[in-house]
Amino acid sequence: MHPTPKEITRAGEHDVKIVWNDGHESVFPARPLRLACPCAACVEEMTGRRLLQPANLPPDVHPVGIQLVGRYGIQIRWSDGHDTGIYTFEVLRQLCPCEACARRGL
Ligand SMILES: [Zn+2]
Ligand SMILES: [Zn+2]
Repeated sequence: MHPTPKEITRAGEHDVKIVWNDGHESVFPARPLRLACPCAACVEEMTGRRLLQPANLPPDVHPVGIQLVGRYGIQIRWSDGHDTGIYTFEVLRQLCPCEACARRGL
């Protein structure tokens, strides 16, 4: 089954909340989500090496805009001006930081 968001909203001050079509809820804290940006400027495509240095990120980095990309993902515009990362639903679901997902070992 492909997880698809039913609802994408904000949680807390800066966090992103997704309610999935299977009823699961994920709350993504802003900074780790920014650090997980999958774009070519943040991750080396061939090796998967992370180019983005946490120290270079403002501590309060947060989404200023979220846009759906087709039927497969979202594009987030960040307060640090970065907006090239597309987070596919599949990746987002894998990034879900909730306890149930952590226990599954994802
Ligand atoms: Zn990026
Ligand atoms: Zn979860």
